Amino acid sequence: MPHYPAPPPSLSYELFPPASAAAAERLEVSLEALAHTEPDYVSVTYSGTPHRRRATLDLVDHLVRDTRLRPLAHLTCVGESAESLAGLVRHFIGLGVRGVLAMRGDLPEDPAADVGEYPFARYLVELIREVEGQYSAALGAGRLSVGVAAYPVRHPESPSFQHDVEVLVGKQRSGADYAITQVYFRPEDYTQLVDAARRAGVTIPIIPGVLPVDSPDRLARLAKLTGVEPDPLLGHALETASDEAERRRIGVEFAASLVRRALGDGAPGVHVYTFNRHEGAIDLVERLDLPGQRTDARHGLAARVGA
Ligand code: FAD
Repeated sequence: MPHYPAPPPSLSYELFPPASAAAAERLEVSLEALAHTEPDYVSVTYSGTPHRRRATLDLVDHLVRDTRLRPLAHLTCVGESAESLAGLVRHFIGLGVRGVLAMRGDLPEDPAADVGEYPFARYLVELIREVEGQYSAALGAGRLSVGVAAYPVRHPESPSFQHDVEVLVGKQRSGADYAITQVYFRPEDYTQLVDAARRAGVTIPIIPGVLPVDSPDRLARLAKLTGVEPDPLLGHALETASDEAERRRIGVEFAASLVRRALGDGAPGVHVYTFNRHEGAIDLVERLDLPGQRTDARHGLAARVGA
């Protein structure tokens, strides 16, 4: 039997749609810088509110038409109708997008608010597969790559970590091809998730999601946003660092140590949350020295793009 070498680890970045003209200009610089590291794809976050939804669609459109970056379009189902979701999936397929990250989205703060026809992400995965069957096949567009969220640390609404694992099994059964994790701060959290998922029958790749955190404020905001307890040592190091450069170095080194351990434990790649700032993401990629590609990043990329 021929022996094929293992593929190099995948590399991807998360971006969000800019909220102002100035932010859009800054994002262009980041897109240019990130493109030099040859990511496999860049993901674009989604929000169901009409204005922000438009901004997501515009950014995905821009990536397809004006850059060589491959977009992964996030989509959330909470509060949405089947018709509107199916329309969005058709829109992405028609545009040439071949990857969708299917999530539920955070619940509205008002407990009486309508959560829509799709209360859980796995139903959105099923809907995407249905639309793909009818529409993508007719266009000759091929199979979509559908990703889902996974949680190394218990999801805030979930009764247990094991329940999260069962939910991931359900997402795989519904047709998910891979999962990207929520942020985490303890290396063993990723490994425990993968081990528990494999024991439960999950075979799809589980890609660790990491963020190079460069300030105590950002760390606190991240904890609030995700419900993941921040690492106290990282928090202390960021608070006592002498300047911005030192904080950036600390955040990058912390994220690099998480990724090295995950890759050592068999992770298929890395997904970097950027908050639309390329500097830390590029420092991280340089630090990781990923095998097989992205020579640009290894040979002084930061200097060339002014990162
Ligand atoms: P689900 O898998 O539906 O799970 C939600 C909750 O319901 C969990 O507690 C789960 O345990 C429980 N549950 C699921 N199925 C069942 C069932 N059958 N019975 C009982 N309980 C069940 N949010 C955005 O708004 N926009 C984004 O672009 C976005 N991008 C993200 C990217 C990544 C990589 C990650 C990890 C998260 C992202 N989020 C985003 C946040 C995500 O929407 C929230 O974490 C959300 O609260 C849960 O989404 P989910 O897809 O995991 O939901």
